[in-house]
Amino acid sequence: MPTVRTRFAPSPTGPMHLGNARTALYSWAFARRHGGALVLRIEDTDRARYTPEAEALVLETLRWLGIDWDEGPHHQSQRRERHQQVVEELLAKGHAYRCTASKDELERSREAAIAAGESWVYRSPHRDAQLGPDCGEHVVRLKVPEVGRLEWDDAVFGPSGQEASDIPDMVIRRSDGTPLYNLAVVVDDMDMQITHVIRGADHHSNTPLQLALYQALDAAPPEFAHVPLIVNESGKKLSKRRDKVSVQAFREEGYLADAVRNWLVRLGWSHGDDEIFSQDDIARLFDLEHVGRASARADTAKLTWLNQHYLKSLPIEALFEAVQPSLEAIAEGPVPRSAALDRLLDLCRERSKVLTDFAPQARWWLRDDIELDAKAAKKHLRPVVREPLSKLRGELEGLDPWTEAGLEAAFERVLSACGDLPLGKLAQPVRVAVTGGTTSPGIFETLEVLGPDRTRARLAGALEWIAARADSA
Ligand code: GLU
Repeated sequence: MPTVRTRFAPSPTGPMHLGNARTALYSWAFARRHGGALVLRIEDTDRARYTPEAEALVLETLRWLGIDWDEGPHHQSQRRERHQQVVEELLAKGHAYRCTASKDELERSREAAIAAGESWVYRSPHRDAQLGPDCGEHVVRLKVPEVGRLEWDDAVFGPSGQEASDIPDMVIRRSDGTPLYNLAVVVDDMDMQITHVIRGADHHSNTPLQLALYQALDAAPPEFAHVPLIVNESGKKLSKRRDKVSVQAFREEGYLADAVRNWLVRLGWSHGDDEIFSQDDIARLFDLEHVGRASARADTAKLTWLNQHYLKSLPIEALFEAVQPSLEAIAEGPVPRSAALDRLLDLCRERSKVLTDFAPQARWWLRDDIELDAKAAKKHLRPVVREPLSKLRGELEGLDPWTEAGLEAAFERVLSACGDLPLGKLAQPVRVAVTGGTTSPGIFETLEVLGPDRTRARLAGALEWIAARADSA
């Protein structure tokens, strides 16, 4: 087999769709697995829809997913001359022809086919007329063979194809002189010596036409692998309005690249019962034989599960870097890394599904103006807790070193001094006092990361609050 060369050929118009990202990932993985090359080609010929911002987003998204390419980005729009040259060659060899049929004529041909109960396969009356360049306004059509089958063995869908007689003479150059997608894609794949075209199943139906072009150009077609579409959890095609469809959206919601990549590779591909695939695993194991034909369900619960898995082992530096902006947004100021913050982030991992879950859990640590949750305060900061809270305050006054074990021992002394009070009766009021609410990591861990000064100040604040409330009652 010649050196494997795959390509990713997006038409950037907006954020990158999950399906495109998966195509990119499969093309990358296949190239890596076979020691080949991935070519990045930006199909920017639709100038009305293409934007440089969308292209930048494609590159950024690929980098984020760890998909590196070996060549490019090439820009299809810069290859116009070459596309024109191929159209001229096809005309000269009689494999293409100029067609001046008007819209009305086409419409009449279509109606006639319908009236005759036939499917409409357009063959222009100019097919054999060899009209010259001065024939007036015209398009160029490929002369699709009358007989034979345009077929291929799809690496995913198996034997595929269509009778040539069912394929219309497609336009390869518009009347304004611009080449069409099917021509440009074939010429580019041929020139870039692509050996494997891996793309979405929405292109399966374009392949017979493209094979007709390879034939006309006397070029060997690449292998094709059409990857089934991604559907939502109810089995419907992903829709921009209804579903989250872009990689960007998942990134913004706090999913890690490792999790999104792992999720994407499994949307259609399997390797036994394995679920966890690192980037290296993907590059080592990916194959086209195990890409299924059924549509792949975008199961977001699975993504969340994967994200939690990767969050657990994310190095603390990386976790800090990823959440720092959201911490700073809450703190309304710089939040440098510290041992206490590292510890807090580690404690929050267990309760976090996505990166955006961290900062809200750290609010009480990030700011001193904590707000007491009214319901929690009413329930837990009652006059009966004044005594244990004051005793605790006293115990903590000289606590040194300020450690989880030391805090636990101090709590125990207070509990037994208060008639063997159960831990919860003290821990929950303390939690409300120092965090404002009823959920936080374990109480000793919470106090440890908050540190002695802030803990003491907040306990004092809570005692004042209880006193004020008792006075006003
Ligand atoms: N630019 C095309 C698209 O984004 C890709 C064509 C292809 O992969 O052949 O759908």
